[in-house]
Amino acid sequence: MVNGRRSYVIIGNGIAGTSAAETIRKNDQNARVVLIAEEPYPLYNRVALPPYLKLKVTEKKVLMRTVEQHQQRGIELLLNTRAEALDTSNKVVHASNGESYPYDALLLAVGGTPNHLDAPGAEARGVCYFQTLDDTNEILEIASRAKHAVTFGGSYISYELTEGFASRGILTTWVMRGPRFLRQVLDDVGGQMVEKLAARHDVSIIYGDEPGQVDAKGNHVVAAWTKSKQRIAADLVGCGLGLRLNTRVCRGTDIHIHRGILTDRFLETNVPGVYAAGDCAEFYDMYLHIYNTIGTWESAGLQGRLAALNMMCEHPGDRQPFQHVPTYTSTLFDSKITVFGSTPSDQPMLDSLVQYDMDSFAYKRLFFHEHLLVGGVLIGSAAKSRTPLMQVVKERREILNDDRAALLDLGPAAGSREADLEEASVE
Ligand SMILES: Cc1cc2nc3c(=O)[nH]c(=O)nc-3n(C[C@H](O)[C@H](O)[C@H](O)COP(=O)(O)OP(=O)(O)OC[C@H]3O[C@@H](n4cnc5c(N)ncnc54)[C@H](O)[C@@H]3O)c2cc1C
Repeated sequence: MVNGRRSYVIIGNGIAGTSAAETIRKNDQNARVVLIAEEPYPLYNRVALPPYLKLKVTEKKVLMRTVEQHQQRGIELLLNTRAEALDTSNKVVHASNGESYPYDALLLAVGGTPNHLDAPGAEARGVCYFQTLDDTNEILEIASRAKHAVTFGGSYISYELTEGFASRGILTTWVMRGPRFLRQVLDDVGGQMVEKLAARHDVSIIYGDEPGQVDAKGNHVVAAWTKSKQRIAADLVGCGLGLRLNTRVCRGTDIHIHRGILTDRFLETNVPGVYAAGDCAEFYDMYLHIYNTIGTWESAGLQGRLAALNMMCEHPGDRQPFQHVPTYTSTLFDSKITVFGSTPSDQPMLDSLVQYDMDSFAYKRLFFHEHLLVGGVLIGSAAKSRTPLMQVVKERREILNDDRAALLDLGPAAGSREADLEEASVE
């Protein structure tokens, strides 16, 4: 604290970090707020990157903040600057611009980095990842000339790449290690439904296989092999192989790291005054009573805001815990999918009930832990019942075994309209 002015340093200017910076400024006009950002852009909307790849929105629509807006708010935004090291004893962040930034409270909102393809040829042009605006612009450049593509991975990002390529008329083969898309969330029937939806876009799926080597000509991809030795012609190889959470900045400190940066329910790490929020945080989840990570836009923004308010509290007893039922909504070719609450990917022993209609591409699978509904996955028209089902989860309403099936028939809330795109505003 200098002359009664508190200093806050935030590392990472995604939705978590930017929300935190703006929350602090709103509540303390006097504080010094420093936002250290490795990327060259002020906040942009990662959820809008898939529509941008499909040319449904412009780059301008993806960008959410300007440098001038940060200046007007008195937030010191340092673009193209990496936080290199933390000195938690002296409460200082050392940055790649050679400067050091002292703090009274520090927020780590550093997100994750895509796992890279570890195979011969993986450095060739055309092997791509889908995490940043720069990644997307690179794909867009190649996609305009591409005829064939391969995508690797069985989760959301590989789906987004597959759909993005297919929507551009690129003949795409989707290769995944598991027996279906979102293998821990969908069952066999759900997997078959996704395969049918994909086939309508000329996407063929190979299950139970992994990336092998990449063939290049003049440093440009021409084909990808699978481990089981299938060669697929490709001008683009899209990789959705999971995220490694960015914990490197914590090296040499006492901050506890597990899968992510470990925090308590208030989002504070074991080092007093150091908080974590968003994708990088492994926080104590008040719903599940386990340490959990969430990779959704809405949760990251909420965590950024809450961490900021907790960092500002004079009395630790005034801090609020993070309590939130996450939801992830995305297109699913010409349908859509919503996953909410907890699923077997974070709690493997959940019971489930399923209802579907293959002809109309409607699918609902609900997850139970003892007498509680804890989460679910909805495809197509079934997504209309998201709001009432989430209400049951939030209220922790007791559901006896005999009453579980009735939840499958829960209709949409009166007058409700489910959003097409996940909420993407900072405020
Ligand atoms: C293509 C795509 C589609 C998605 N679609 C959806 C969706 O439909 N619905 C949904 O809910 N979620 C979606 N997500 C996930 C969602 O976007 C993320 O959960 C959310 O953006 C995470 O925000 P964050 O602020 O925690 O991290 P990030 O947005 O990853 O921001 C972290 C920032 O910190 C920076 N950084 C890291 N280390 C340092 C350092 N040492 N110094 C300085 N800066 C550093 C990084 O460069 C990065 O800019 C999608 C993500 C992607 C990539």
